[in-house]
Amino acid sequence: MKNLWNDADAEKMVADYAKKGVDGDLALRVYTTRLLGGEPRLVLHGGGNTSCKTRATDLVGDEWDVLCVKGSGWDMAVIEPQGLPAVKMGALLKARALTELSDEDMVALQRSNLIDPASPNPSVETLLHAFLPHKFVDHTHSTAILAIVDQEDSKALVKRVFGDRLGYVPYIKPGFDLAKVAAEVFEADPSVEGLILDKHGIFTFGDDARQAYDRMIHYVNVAEEYVAKNGKPKAAKAALPAKLARPSDIAPMLRGAVAVARGEGRFDRMISDFRTSDAIIDFINSAKIAELAGRGVSTPDLSIRIKTGPMAIPAPDADKLGDYKAVIRSHVETFAKDYQAYFETNDALDDVKRAMLDPMPRLTLVPGLGMFGHGRTLKDAKIASDVGEMWIEAVRGAEAIGNFQPLSKADLFPLEYWSLEQAKLASNKPKPLTGQVVLITGGAGAIGAATAKLFAANGAHAVIVDLDPAKAAEAAKAAGNNSIGVGADITDPAEMRAAFDKAVAVYGGVDILVSNAGAAWEGRIGELDDATLRKSFELNFFAHQSAAQNAVRIMLEQDTGGVLLFNTSKQAVNPGPKFGAYGIPKAATLFLSRQYALDYGAHGIRSNAVNADRIRSGLLTDAMIASRSGARGVSEKEYMSGNLLGQEVTADDVAQAFLHQALAERTTADVTTVDGGNIAAALR
Ligand SMILES: [Zn+2]
Repeated sequence: MKNLWNDADAEKMVADYAKKGVDGDLALRVYTTRLLGGEPRLVLHGGGNTSCKTRATDLVGDEWDVLCVKGSGWDMAVIEPQGLPAVKMGALLKARALTELSDEDMVALQRSNLIDPASPNPSVETLLHAFLPHKFVDHTHSTAILAIVDQEDSKALVKRVFGDRLGYVPYIKPGFDLAKVAAEVFEADPSVEGLILDKHGIFTFGDDARQAYDRMIHYVNVAEEYVAKNGKPKAAKAALPAKLARPSDIAPMLRGAVAVARGEGRFDRMISDFRTSDAIIDFINSAKIAELAGRGVSTPDLSIRIKTGPMAIPAPDADKLGDYKAVIRSHVETFAKDYQAYFETNDALDDVKRAMLDPMPRLTLVPGLGMFGHGRTLKDAKIASDVGEMWIEAVRGAEAIGNFQPLSKADLFPLEYWSLEQAKLASNKPKPLTGQVVLITGGAGAIGAATAKLFAANGAHAVIVDLDPAKAAEAAKAAGNNSIGVGADITDPAEMRAAFDKAVAVYGGVDILVSNAGAAWEGRIGELDDATLRKSFELNFFAHQSAAQNAVRIMLEQDTGGVLLFNTSKQAVNPGPKFGAYGIPKAATLFLSRQYALDYGAHGIRSNAVNADRIRSGLLTDAMIASRSGARGVSEKEYMSGNLLGQEVTADDVAQAFLHQALAERTTADVTTVDGGNIAAALR
């Protein structure tokens, strides 16, 4: 591992922060914290922390000795000074005299001694940082270090690799007890330059930022070199099918299998993030991958991301894809049963009241293909994949020099169910459509874009399909929530298929279709040329059918229901003069919606239509509004609000109707009218 310290960068950071009133110690603390945080093999998504001991002034001008220590929720790679809240040292040091201190009291002690009460919670490892005398303390979960400590005989190995340069601390759950023992280990030999925490990670320290950082990189390199020099040949590889299925073939099956069934056709769905590389495949093709996965996480902090460890499933045979869903489901069932047993066994050991978290895996290893991270959002799914890559790094190293033996699951349990760890995740309250994927055709138009925005605001990830890829990307950006834009001519079945493939590649599947794209052609029906009518049917009927077919194909593989929503327009029930080319295929689409409701209701797939009218959009442009209102001799405003309510209907109103239909779990074969009231077009 490369030492990234650079004098010029360090000086620049000190100078830049000095202008903002941040002292040099803290500026350098920010500098090396970012260096550590930028390397996934050291710290990942909240695992690891740093501190420095300095002085700070409170609001009334009193100056205090403080510990600036990483705050919860901050990513070390992009940390700022406010991510290192200052805690008064006096109180922290006094706590060492206590014989016991509960986690809740420890948090209270830390919070009540913050210089700025608005700060985030100081790290759960704050006391450990405080009890060590050094000005700068760095802590990581380095994968190379984990390869050494995740061994049966780790104590002897640590001694062999690091000699007396690092102290050895046996595994203790982070908190007050660990902090005391770590301090005692240091005091037994104050010449050590750091501490190895069994089954957990490494601390290094120094008088200045550079020394602590240099030592971290140095000992990580010692560990890396030991693994490289002493690694034995790799384990045997599993036999793979002659022809492997593609990731997109199995992603919806897997995504459906890991959804949490809430009963009566209701599911908490997850997003799947597929990831692969030569290194991933080389490792997961091991003949003993299932057994390695079963041994657990490489450092306990990972349990909040991937629970008790990954799930491994067999490589998918392209010629036996029909049987593969059952294979996946049986593996998921076993994982969930094992998880439940793990919970029940360990929960019974004390009187603490806990609710079991959902028992679904968060990381699935598929030999031959790669791995899928699962999470309620794309962000969480990607975090699970990131964590998976580092799990592989650590386990590969551990297996090369011995046998990967991480923390036991009994010891892991109190950490996974620790209130302080769960607090890290508590801020992610699910929204009504969290975990769901919506694909919207005509997604960059007025109605499509408004629908994408509303669905994304309600937690869905939107796949915005539009003829114009740039506009699709723009609408995705406006929608937010990691939505994506896809350019496609959806009257071409291959391009439609590619749009759905993209949804599967990015999110793992599709739950909601908003089949919205349309265009109007005018002409008296008796004189309309065939080509125009057929062209209109291609977009206003067949594209709806092709979108629905693709959606249903994926939904059936997921087996978690779904909903098809069609924009059918008022024309479907109430023809307008010279508007046959538009209205006739829309009428067919209205019945298409009902046909899907009928044919797929038994699979939990709902199908509904929205009948909108007179919406300012690409179909009804400002120029058209001016010309039509002029032709009728009314103002534009009168024309647009020419309905029973006397109010203009907007794209946002249509989006609300789609959202309602998506959320109304017992509504199918429905038509929702969004036209401000038009008796001639009212459904009977
Ligand atoms: Zn740690």
